[in-house]
Amino acid sequence: MKDLAHLPENLATVPAQGYPCELHTDHAPEPLFNHRHHIWPLGLGGPDESTNVVFVCPVGHDRVHALLRLMYTHDGSVPWTLACHFGSKERALAKMGYERAKGTLI
Ligand SMILES: [Zn+2]
Ligand SMILES: [Zn+2]
Repeated sequence: MKDLAHLPENLATVPAQGYPCELHTDHAPEPLFNHRHHIWPLGLGGPDESTNVVFVCPVGHDRVHALLRLMYTHDGSVPWTLACHFGSKERALAKMGYERAKGTLI
């Protein structure tokens, strides 16, 4: 697998075959391309390096960023009535990003 960590996230489309979605095993339809997501978002000072990058499907990518936005608007404690609409891996990935970024915002 190629190291694509040097590419900015907006150029981050990769073939789904070879870079499978880390959030879901089943997709309908199967995506042709997946996205590089920065766990600790670049826009919040996250590093553009492979340890901060995961591959996710386009839908999952949107959902993780939506959940990250919810975490910021709720100081990290998203009410379950909202959080329950996200899968456990989506919640875990967003939480990891929120936690990594949090330390830098103090
Ligand atoms: Zn992302
Ligand atoms: Zn997915």
